[in-house]
Amino acid sequence: MDRIYMDHAATTPVRPEVIEAMLPAYKETFGNASSVYSWGREAQKALDDARAKTAAVLGAEFNEIIFTGGGSEADNLAIKGTAWKNRHKGKHIITSAVEHHAVLDTVKWLETQGFEATFLSVDEDGMLDPQQVRDAIREDTILITVMHGNNEMGSIMPVEEIADIAREKGVLFHTDAVQTVGSLPIDVKEMGMDMLSLSAHKFYGPKGVGALYVRKGVRLDSLIHGGAQERNRRAGTEDVPAIIGLAEALERADEERDKVIPEITRLRDRLLKGLETIPETRVNGHRKKRLPNNVNVCFRYIEGESLLLNLDMMGIAASSGSACTSGSLEPSHVLLAMGLSHEIAHGSLRLTLGRETTENEVDYVLEQVPAVVNRLREMSPLYHQ
Ligand SMILES: *Cc1c(COP(=O)(O)O)cnc(C)c1O
Repeated sequence: MDRIYMDHAATTPVRPEVIEAMLPAYKETFGNASSVYSWGREAQKALDDARAKTAAVLGAEFNEIIFTGGGSEADNLAIKGTAWKNRHKGKHIITSAVEHHAVLDTVKWLETQGFEATFLSVDEDGMLDPQQVRDAIREDTILITVMHGNNEMGSIMPVEEIADIAREKGVLFHTDAVQTVGSLPIDVKEMGMDMLSLSAHKFYGPKGVGALYVRKGVRLDSLIHGGAQERNRRAGTEDVPAIIGLAEALERADEERDKVIPEITRLRDRLLKGLETIPETRVNGHRKKRLPNNVNVCFRYIEGESLLLNLDMMGIAASSGSACTSGSLEPSHVLLAMGLSHEIAHGSLRLTLGRETTENEVDYVLEQVPAVVNRLREMSPLYHQ
């Protein structure tokens, strides 16, 4: 069997059609979109088309899309940008304890700059109760940022309800939708979003390009100053090929959703059900309100890193905790925030499926994981106590 890639939450391969769509912008339409002559106008036209496509898929308006250098930058721009812009109004920010580091560490940095933050805890399924958000709002709250789909344990947060509360209280709401854009239907107006982040490499587009939806009327400070690109909100010559790739990948993901997502969901459930039969296994994340491609379990008496290395030897690419925390001995902040003990959180395994995952691959993983778990437990002194 070939190698099996089951880490689509970390990144995805670029679709061949997306590469095709990008190539002309490297070869022919290579102009600077700010230039007045024909090369520049052609690049500007390609950029406009990509922006229109992106906006259409999200239910946004043309001018409400800011292209960025990825999901982390979109999160930083949303949070720092609105915090600075509104600092005369208040200094309090609300977020959750299970956010991606791009949000968590940005909010923590703002704390060093005189802002105050509340990090809301989640229940044992990794869910945030909108009532907690309501209770946390203060007179001086200026921003609520809560992710849509959790990249580690897959729970889908009630962001629409939180957005309603934010609007009622006159507080801005941002969501990191990097894990859901491309797999769940997103309509920013229907969902009531003020700001929403996405990243192309999570839906079969290129790395290093993302976007922030910013509702008309929401004002923010730039992170990067210089030229007037992106309506003065993000200086720097636009990466036109990458932006074309983002729009193409987004449009294709949107078109194939009804065909692809039910099949991924079916395979996910098969995988989850099979892994659950391993003794002393805990399923992490909400059973139903869950990303269609996410499987996350903890095996007691197992160390995640050794599990990953053993699976890698069997040709399976998986993840334990988030990429940023691997290499350190601290277990995932997400699993700890759900109330798991250090000991059990250490034995976590995340498998995330993709549009090309097959039933055979799932079956191979279901053969290998129990074997590896058994072997590691046999060697573990804890297991025999
Ligand atoms: C991957 C990811 C990010 C970061 O996006 P980059 O494009 O890699 O910077 C942010 N938030 C979530 C939930 C992610 O999964």
